[in-house]
Amino acid sequence: MANVDPVRLSSNSTIKFKCHPGVKCFTQCCRDINIILTPYDIIRLKQRLDLSSEEFLAIYTEPQLLEKTGLPVVTLKFLEEEDKESDSKACPFVRENGCLVYDDRPTTCRYYPLGVASLSHKEGADDDDFYFFVHEPHCLGFEEDKLWTVREWRKDQGVDIHDEINAEWTDLVVRKRSFPPNMQLTEQTKQMFFMVSYNLDKFHEFVFKSSFLQRYDVDQATLDAIKDDEIALLKFGLKWLKFLLFKEGDFKLKEGADSA
Ligand code: SF4
Ligand code: SF4
Repeated sequence: MANVDPVRLSSNSTIKFKCHPGVKCFTQCCRDINIILTPYDIIRLKQRLDLSSEEFLAIYTEPQLLEKTGLPVVTLKFLEEEDKESDSKACPFVRENGCLVYDDRPTTCRYYPLGVASLSHKEGADDDDFYFFVHEPHCLGFEEDKLWTVREWRKDQGVDIHDEINAEWTDLVVRKRSFPPNMQLTEQTKQMFFMVSYNLDKFHEFVFKSSFLQRYDVDQATLDAIKDDEIALLKFGLKWLKFLLFKEGDFKLKEGADSA
């Protein structure tokens, strides 16, 4: 069972940790955990597996509602292990020799054994992001003799690019969390949040094949940029969500048009 250390870590904090195939606990951390997927995680994984976003969502994810916000997110769907007596559930990508999708593993896997407050819905994350240890009794990496700053760990694990691309999404989630509880989102807004965050193929269709472009003023350069580039499409979608949720940003409705 994971034990979250209450100590707040900053980018300059030092951690002593090493994980490698020689540790006795190798791949134990890929069992019985809850991995919330970020939008960029889905882009990387679906491209890696050559699946559409709908296919990836159907095969590999489970829906979950975020506490406090009610925002719909997805987690990686863990599976019961047939050849084991325990009732543990394992990540669909874990194999005896490691992670099948290692180069494209999700943000949470890259951070481990650190957690990042904004992705974990911790109290206090609304003002300032911070990191913390996720201590699990089976994890022996803390006994290894390698020192890192949190900054070095993040760079080594390639998490910077994930955080940069997910930044606007994380910001939306954190800001929504600080809404007063009586400010509920409509079901339609939640669906739009889900589509942009996780189902980019559907959002692509929504932009180019629905009445979206009759309602919103989008310049040709932007349309050219988002047509075949999923990261550009995600960033565009997140700007639109910011407009829908907070009425902020430079999104422009055409005269007399409704936002949704
Ligand atoms: S449990 Fe810890 S040390 Fe063991 S494989 Fe996972 S991260 Fe590495
Ligand atoms: S995606 Fe890879 S690193 Fe992450 S839990 Fe699954 S097997 Fe482990």
